[in-house]
This record gives sequence, C-alpha cells and structure tokens, in this order.
Amino acid sequence: MSYQNCRTGCIVLKNVDFGESDKIITLYSPDIGRFAAIAKGAKRSKKRFVNKLEEFSLLDISYRPARHDRLHFLSEAELKEAFLSLRTNCQRYCTAMLASELVLRFTREHDPDRRIFSLLHWLLESLHHGASPLPTVVFFHLHLLDACGYRPKLEHCAICSYLPDNKRGLSSFTLQPSNGTLICSRCSGNTGRSRFTLSLQSLKFLQTAQGMTIKQMHRLQMPENIASECLSVLYSYSKYLLQCDIHSWSFLLKITGKQK
Ligand SMILES: [Zn+2]
Repeated sequence: MSYQNCRTGCIVLKNVDFGESDKIITLYSPDIGRFAAIAKGAKRSKKRFVNKLEEFSLLDISYRPARHDRLHFLSEAELKEAFLSLRTNCQRYCTAMLASELVLRFTREHDPDRRIFSLLHWLLESLHHGASPLPTVVFFHLHLLDACGYRPKLEHCAICSYLPDNKRGLSSFTLQPSNGTLICSRCSGNTGRSRFTLSLQSLKFLQTAQGMTIKQMHRLQMPENIASECLSVLYSYSKYLLQCDIHSWSFLLKITGKQK
C-alpha cells in the first residue's frame, strides 16, 4: 500500500476524543468501507477540522493510509454536507444514531460496499429533509441486512409454502432468527406473540419495501404503528445475529414513547 496521501468521500459514524488534543474518527467510505483514522490536534484545531468531524457529516478527506495495523492519519477534511437538522431534532438524531450503529456493527473494517454507503447517505439526506424517521429506518435496516447477507426470506411460509394473503385468515407470522425464514401461525401452532411475530399487514409492508429501490421508497406510505412493529422485529433479528445489544435502539424507543 502506498503511504502517499489518498482522497475519498465518507460519512462520520463515530467520533471520540483521544488524549489531550486528538480525535479518533470512525468513517464509512464507498472505496474503503469502515475504517478509523486519527485526527491530530482536532480538539484544538480552529481551522483544519473545526465542526467537520461531527457524527453523520459527509466529508471529502485526504488521509495517509495506516502502516502496520495502526490508524489511518487524517490530513484534511472538507465538509460536503453537515445534515445539521439531525442534531437539532431528537427523533431524527436517535434514528441516525441507530443507522450508524447498525453500520458499525454489521460491517467489517476495510470491506467496502457502495450499496451500504448509498443507503446510509440516503437515510441521512431523507431524515434531514423531513422524511418520517421510523419508516425510513425500517427501509434502511431491511436493505442493510440484505447487503450484509442476512436478507430475511419473507416470500412464504418455509414449511407449507403458504403465501401470505388475506384469504386463509392467518393473521400472524414468525420470523425464525436462526435462518431468516418465515413460519405461518398454523405451522408453528403458536397463536401467541413473540419478539419475532409479524402481523400480516406488517409483513406485506416489509415485502413491498424489500422489492423497492431507494428511488422508489417515497412511494411507500408506511403507518407509524406498522413501522414500529417492523422495526421491533428487525431489531430482535439483528440482536440475535450480532449476539450483542444495539444501544441506540433504547434511545429511539424512549423518545418515540414506545418503551415497554
Ligand atoms: Zn405454514
């Protein structure tokens, strides 16, 4: 790898103070994937990095690649978009934090995926322009799972191949976290609800969202209560896959008043 300065576009996922004057910034770039860089003097800099390294900022950076597993060295950062409204609106902020945490947890370092970058960029831009936070993050979460190889298989019941519709009167389905497949309530013999239960209505929205591209997403009018149910199941599925908690989730629940 060359140790000359390189340039890339990226989004700030995380920003932590390091020592007296430095910061360690975790970024996601379409060219590099997730990576961490040290911004020397960033806590004191009045010019070079001021107000540029905040979470969710879209940057064009110049950096020196890491030597021997150390951190990349951030030389310069040009702020392309700050998405300022995400910092002044609590629900937008918590939603963007959840999306950032999902990218942090689901991706590996130096494993770039342009689709993940585009999804995150789309989410930040949509929230900034006033899109409804819960449906936006449902779409993001669903497509992030897909990009990371964990696409839930929502087409039909994995046992009886029953296609979810209104005709047979089945009203709920369970997502099996171990393999991402769906089981209808008749096959599971379980009429009670669990963390993985989806109503027919929520399932239909998820199926539609799964078949849509980012550009088509504005057509999906997902009611808040449906978005909340979908997100709750996606959260439980992700928690199972990651085998760890997703901290931003509890903040989002608190501010949307859905904490049980
Ligand atoms: Zn079935």
